[in-house]
Amino acid sequence: MEKPLFFKSSCPRCGKYGKIFVVASSQDNECFYLNKFHCDEWREFDFGLFSIACYCPECKNYVSASVSVAHDEIKNATVKLENFSNENNELKLGAEFMIDFDVPALLPPQHYSFPPVISVSDIYEQARKCYSLQAWEAVGILCRKIVDIQSIFMWQTRHPGKEHPSNLAQRLEELLVKGIKEKKKIARSEVSEFLNFDSIKHRLFYDMDRIRESGNDAAHEMVAYHDDEAEAMLIFTQNFLDESESWMQSLRKASQKTSPPKEPRADQAR
Ligand SMILES: [Zn+2]
Repeated sequence: MEKPLFFKSSCPRCGKYGKIFVVASSQDNECFYLNKFHCDEWREFDFGLFSIACYCPECKNYVSASVSVAHDEIKNATVKLENFSNENNELKLGAEFMIDFDVPALLPPQHYSFPPVISVSDIYEQARKCYSLQAWEAVGILCRKIVDIQSIFMWQTRHPGKEHPSNLAQRLEELLVKGIKEKKKIARSEVSEFLNFDSIKHRLFYDMDRIRESGNDAAHEMVAYHDDEAEAMLIFTQNFLDESESWMQSLRKASQKTSPPKEPRADQAR
């Protein structure tokens, strides 16, 4: 029996990196997306040229995937999948040969509380998966939800026992840039132009308020929401999550030392 083709990748089911075997491949190598995108002279890829079924020996699961290769009008009209393998039957992934698993599995979140409470890191993982599925709007909406939830944790850390404003824009303002509008005599929409980026609170406000606004666009606007905006949202979200954790940590430390809790100065909190 002929040795099966394989490639090396992280398995979308179990996450282990190793050999994934190709157990079946489509015979017709018609590019599914041909007439949908990239069909002019600038076309660089034949997306989805082959559909394959793969097997992960680690978790013993089958997963489907699509193979995209660099565009070549003559070669790709008759080429077979094995023509892309080397003498060891390995399909080498690279800039000109890509394999995307059709449905990246998202491990269901583990809830350790009752009622089950969502975790910010689960939502962030969902947003990353949506990005890989090119669901741009979903990325924007999920990142806004992360801001909503995390800002409540931040509020509870800063003002223990005090009810948080239910409106997100107001909550961010009161939590991070309280009094700035009155001091600078500016409107709410202008606040981001008057921030001091040496202050961790102001940096947090900048990131979180931008995600809030962009998430509103993703949820409500008619105008298309693009990949670059979704990518920016993931970056801003990762950034503010890291900074908010260290901000809350310094608040907790300060409240252990003194009572009532004092807010650390911006330069100490960095
Ligand atoms: Zn696996």
